[in-house]
Amino acid sequence: MPSKQQRGPKPKHVPQRTCIACRKVAGKRSLIRIVRTEQGIEMDPTGKKAGRGAYLHPNQACWKAILTGNRLSQALRTPLSAENRQTLTAFMAGLPEQEDEEEVLSTA
Ligand SMILES: [Zn+2]
Repeated sequence: MPSKQQRGPKPKHVPQRTCIACRKVAGKRSLIRIVRTEQGIEMDPTGKKAGRGAYLHPNQACWKAILTGNRLSQALRTPLSAENRQTLTAFMAGLPEQEDEEEVLSTA
C-alpha cells in the first residue's frame, strides 16, 4: 500500500507505549503521559517528569474510558480524587473526540 504522506526520515528507535484505555501500542510521543507526583496527578507533555506514569491517546474516547473506570488509578497505583478527575476532565475537553489519523484516509 503506497503511502502518500511521508513523515520525514524514519527515526532510529521509537519507544512504544501502551494506551491504558484501549490497550493499543503507539509511539511514546503520540501518547499523553499522565504522571503521579507528590502534588497529585499531572499531565506530562514532555514525558520527563519523575514518577509513575501512564499513557493515553490524545482523544476523548480513551480519556472517557479511564474516567469512568479505575484503570488510571490502577496504572498509577493511587486512588483518583475528585480533584484529579476534574483536572483530567478539563484536559479531556481540549482533546479531539476521535483520533485524527484514522479519519485522514483520503477517498481518492
Ligand atoms: Zn487509546
